[in-house]
Amino acid sequence: MPNLNQRIAVCTGTFDPVHLGHLDIISRGCTLFDAVVVGVGPNPEKQHFFTAAERVALLEEVVRPYPNVSVQSFEGLAVQFVRSVGARIMLRGLRTLSDMEYEFSMSLMNLTLDPRLETIFLMAKEEYSHVSSTLLRQVAEFGGDLSKFLPPSVQAALVRRAHERRDQRGSGFRS
Ligand code: ADP
Repeated sequence: MPNLNQRIAVCTGTFDPVHLGHLDIISRGCTLFDAVVVGVGPNPEKQHFFTAAERVALLEEVVRPYPNVSVQSFEGLAVQFVRSVGARIMLRGLRTLSDMEYEFSMSLMNLTLDPRLETIFLMAKEEYSHVSSTLLRQVAEFGGDLSKFLPPSVQAALVRRAHERRDQRGSGFRS
């Protein structure tokens, strides 16, 4: 049963996989709110590298230092998930001006779906403002160095998954 006096912020995303830009927003969020719930959702427009269970497990490992952060997966609308954990704050990271446009539309849509909901944005740190899971997956596919952007455990998992995918494609892949 959620504690109604707690200020809970919910950070939703695909987290495929979680990177240091995400972790920066989550760790800053957990100093601003009593609790941060990370919601791992589906993205129908993306083909996932990691299953929901794998994405949750990777996140759980890297948020372990933050006792007021928990991780859950969800299906469906983010606003429903936010409600289901007894929260009314969505925490989002903003990277670039192009993010602004998308995030602006999404927060207005969410506000229309649930007028009690507020979205709070934190600016991405400069060193992560160009980092996205999509880009990191691409770098991993071509064997690039990911250490500046991923916690070591996530880097190991992503490199392993990129290799598996390369093996599956077999001789069709040329680097
Ligand atoms: P989505 O599946 O909606 O693309 P992500 O999993 O990429 O979401 O991101 C989840 C949350 O983390 C979003 O609020 C997003 O704006 C934020 N985020 C993503 N990348 C970064 C970054 N490099 N720095 C700060 N915040 C980020």
